[in-house]
Amino acid sequence: MDDFNPCLSCGVCCTHFRVSFYWAEADPFMGGTVPAELTEKINDRFVCMKGTNQKNPRCIALEGTVGECVSCAIYDKRSNPCRDFPLWMEDGSLNPECQRLRQIHGLPPIILPDDHPTNNPPTMPQVA
Ligand code: SF4
Ligand code: SF4
Repeated sequence: MDDFNPCLSCGVCCTHFRVSFYWAEADPFMGGTVPAELTEKINDRFVCMKGTNQKNPRCIALEGTVGECVSCAIYDKRSNPCRDFPLWMEDGSLNPECQRLRQIHGLPPIILPDDHPTNNPPTMPQVA
């Protein structure tokens, strides 16, 4: 399996959106995993990650320097919207939204390595 992971030197999706989700995702008694102390209330139904409900968002759980080296401090406990934002599309191509967000934040586009599978689509079997 290809291990190319541009997220490790990106992080812009964690500094662009208000990351909001149903409150139960931050309630362990409801099966939630997100640490409640890292969230803030939006209304009776929704909370968001602290730091993302402001003009220049940056999730409180994002560690490191955007565009250089980043990680999520609660990766295994992150909310559904974090899990649902795809790096790869179903056809194996890069999510074009990643490139758009990177451009907005002044980062160069992600360049896939020459040996990446999406640069080397399988060829048709040769017929003898
Ligand atoms: S914007 Fe795309 S490449 Fe950048 S961290 Fe988010 S998912 Fe990864
Ligand atoms: S919880 Fe993690 S993945 Fe989600 S926005 Fe924050 S840093 Fe990014």
